[in-house]
Amino acid sequence: MTSWQLSAKEEMVEKFLDAASRGDADQVSSLLSHAPSLLNQAGHSGWTALMLAARNGHRQVAEALLSHGCDKWSVNSSGQTAYDIAGFWGHRHIAALLGGAERGGDLVPRENYFGRETLDRLSAKRTDSPWLEAKKTHPGSVFLLFSDLSPMVSGSREDGALELCRLAYDAVKDLLQKDDVLVVFLGVDRSKVAPGEDPPAWFAVSTDEDAAALLQRCPGRKCSFPKSARRDLLALSEEDAGVLAPARSLLAWHARYGFCATCGSATQVEEGGHKRSCRNAACKSLQGVHNTCYPRVDPVVIMLVVHPDGNQCLLGRKNVFPKGMFSCLAGFVEPGETLEAAVRREVEEESGVKAGAVQYVACQPWPMPSQLMIGCLAVAVTTDITVDHNEIEDARWFPRQQVIEALLRESSQGLFLPPKQTIAHQLIRHWIGTSANL
Ligand code: ZN
Ligand code: MG
Repeated sequence: MTSWQLSAKEEMVEKFLDAASRGDADQVSSLLSHAPSLLNQAGHSGWTALMLAARNGHRQVAEALLSHGCDKWSVNSSGQTAYDIAGFWGHRHIAALLGGAERGGDLVPRENYFGRETLDRLSAKRTDSPWLEAKKTHPGSVFLLFSDLSPMVSGSREDGALELCRLAYDAVKDLLQKDDVLVVFLGVDRSKVAPGEDPPAWFAVSTDEDAAALLQRCPGRKCSFPKSARRDLLALSEEDAGVLAPARSLLAWHARYGFCATCGSATQVEEGGHKRSCRNAACKSLQGVHNTCYPRVDPVVIMLVVHPDGNQCLLGRKNVFPKGMFSCLAGFVEPGETLEAAVRREVEEESGVKAGAVQYVACQPWPMPSQLMIGCLAVAVTTDITVDHNEIEDARWFPRQQVIEALLRESSQGLFLPPKQTIAHQLIRHWIGTSANL
């Protein structure tokens, strides 16, 4: 091959990659019809047309390339597939196209613990009193008992798994009739629908009755009310965690918001436990738009801050953390603040580091009592750390390799990370799954 031929070929590859990068599906297809060998050609740093389409979220180009049978598993010089790249840049539609069921989303973060919609909330039924009342006495309904915001569970954490105790109507019938017992409608179980039948309705029941006596209501296996929510509730299955999260947050809200926030009058529980309305007919909370009647959700930003060199991340620790544990920085979103501004403000307040670009990754309900953890990646634009000791004990840049070792071995040179049930862990995994030059 002469040098002239080589350069013409290179020019062709460049044109092809440029079309893929710009999202010009017609030109990509037309170039391929003339020169099918372009399909898997790589340019700078081993980037193929598919990777460029994945980088920029061009679905039509990705589809065209795949329909020509391109190699979706080839990697660039940093070891990333097009799928990895799509995941990093948040192009989930492309990641889904590339990953298919067999990848299941290693890098596009999976659904987070506490986030599964195990039940269909069926919110329209919350105002259907006859339907709700019928469900509350239905033999097929499921009742979860709570004592001091702790759910009755069977099994033990040591055995590796806890399960919510599902009680039948007969086991709680007398409790449901008591005035001081709170019953919240959680939804219906989509997975258990027999043809022609209503799916079972689920309720959370909160009572102050003696916990030991309550445990007698569940036949057989060893049951308990876990003492440490933060530790023990992470041992539930994904399905049960997805029921527990809304139930516990709702009950915590009822436990702390018994009176009208506007006028201090008594409130009444409505809509299956999803609303508390003021009983004072003259109260301002009954006119106009207010949120005082509804359960709280408190937005928290939690972010992994990446060093400008792309190879280190900023982790901090509070003094209440176990020795050696570092996690992502986090903080409550303030009124009138965007998520991006909250991320930048919290990072700077706690660590002195200034952050630039912020990218949303995933979120997680955290029912202790009712945060919504909004997970982001942020890119630092400064690197000097000044720790605010009122908020955290320490913050440091950790090199990628040390973080990988901590993820793999649970501990590395004294560093260990939060458990996989936390979005902090998933954010760190997400970053590790991507490359510095993506
Ligand atoms: Zn009021
Ligand atoms: Mg803070």
